[in-house]
Amino acid sequence: MRIGVYPGTFDPMTLGHLDIIRRGAHLVDKLVIGVTTNPSKSPMFSLAERLAMVRREVADMAGEVGVVEFDSLLMDFAEAQGATLILRGLRAVADFEYEYQMAGMNQQLNDRIETVFLMADVSLQPIASRLVKEIARYGGRIDKFVTPAVAADVAQYLGAAR
Ligand code: ADP
Repeated sequence: MRIGVYPGTFDPMTLGHLDIIRRGAHLVDKLVIGVTTNPSKSPMFSLAERLAMVRREVADMAGEVGVVEFDSLLMDFAEAQGATLILRGLRAVADFEYEYQMAGMNQQLNDRIETVFLMADVSLQPIASRLVKEIARYGGRIDKFVTPAVAADVAQYLGAAR
């Protein structure tokens, strides 16, 4: 059984993430979405909220898709999940340098696990969680970038924060 891990912060989950998950799920028998604690990014949503958000968004997805939190080295997490593949999405040039470096270092840490990149869908290329949060904070519409349920989560967060 081929298991893949798709790691991320998902703060919040966007249509870009969902597209990578949908396409990535076809490449493996089981896809484990790893939600990182990532306190260095001081996320808008807590780990528990992000886990619930990701679980809700992938609930109706075809194929075996699991959602698991992790707070460790990615390669250790992937190994513990029995994965042989790490899935990442690649947007234009912005992601390349960071992803290239991380994949290279991860390969040095564990060469039994391969990092596989899927090109972001052309129409979803510009979507980034960071910009979604910024647009929403300034009162802009984010419904082209996230699902209605995620847009409601962000609106609720901002409403409570005011
Ligand atoms: P991280 O903190 O690991 O970068 P993110 O949640 O920001 O977590 O992203 C997780 C993965 O999803 C990364 O591989 C990122 O490149 C990818 N990704 C983010 N946005 C998009 C998008 N619009 N299209 C395709 N891939 C994306």
